[in-house]
Amino acid sequence: MPTFTALTTLQGKAPAEALGEALEALMPEPTGVGVFEVEDGSGLWEVGACFVEAPDEVGLALLAAAHGARDFAVSELPEVDWVAHVKRELAPVRAGRFFVYGSHDADAVPEGVEPLLVEAAMAFGTGHHGTTQGCLHALEALVAAGEVKRSVADIGCGTAVLAMAAARIWPEEALASDIDEVAVEVAETNVRANGLEGRVHCVEATGFDHPDIAARAPYDLIFANILKGPLMDLAAPMFAHTANGGHVILSGLLNEQAAEVRQHYQQAGYNPVEHWEIGDWSTLMLSKNN
Ligand code: SAH
Repeated sequence: MPTFTALTTLQGKAPAEALGEALEALMPEPTGVGVFEVEDGSGLWEVGACFVEAPDEVGLALLAAAHGARDFAVSELPEVDWVAHVKRELAPVRAGRFFVYGSHDADAVPEGVEPLLVEAAMAFGTGHHGTTQGCLHALEALVAAGEVKRSVADIGCGTAVLAMAAARIWPEEALASDIDEVAVEVAETNVRANGLEGRVHCVEATGFDHPDIAARAPYDLIFANILKGPLMDLAAPMFAHTANGGHVILSGLLNEQAAEVRQHYQQAGYNPVEHWEIGDWSTLMLSKNN
């Protein structure tokens, strides 16, 4: 759908608002009108409108003249398929043994890595964010320590990148859940694209609130790369769903939030194991040892 914009400036709030109102009545109708103060001390206001059809330039010129505004500048915005654009821009990510890539880089998968095909889509988890990378490094550390996890949950799975990474390492089925129905659809698509059908089970759930999550508990490993707020809420139910000797990998935290979350999880009964920082983001690993 094409988008046209028409922008002008004029002096004073009241004339700007009057022009904004007059624009609303123009045919073809604008899809939106904005009136903003130009914050440079000049007293100028900017009045703009968006249209899906080419606007009536004569009508705009008359309105501008009648309200003492400069002529409208009309432009047509190019149509951009943002998902396709992002796909072209995204380079593969290496995190430990994992190589997270889009299908446009299928030829670039090196030997000796665990490949994870994750398409840029309407879900978080292309591997480019420090929080995801922190979780993959934490998983790598567990594997390096010889841990074998039989039961894995990825709460807030986004693309399911973490559940798929665990499924590449250990043979049992991993559970991937997200509060967002679109993320669950994207997760299922990625699971199929990676040939992991039957190895990653995707459900739509808030936190641990799903019968399939309860049925597979307790978990030897739980990932939760969600923000601080939901992580704080999930400490008690997460502890209840963690097996003795199990680990949790928490991410989505700014470095300055990590200490508070760690303390909160210690109070819930966990023992801190490790802390990774990637850029501004922290990943925590804790264990449940009774
Ligand atoms: N695990 C992926 C995606 C992390 S983004 C990765 O590591 O890259 C965080 C995801 O958590 C989002 O998809 C969001 O929809 C989901 N989420 C946020 N709060 C949640 C909650 N309370 N329960 C389940 N999922 C949640």
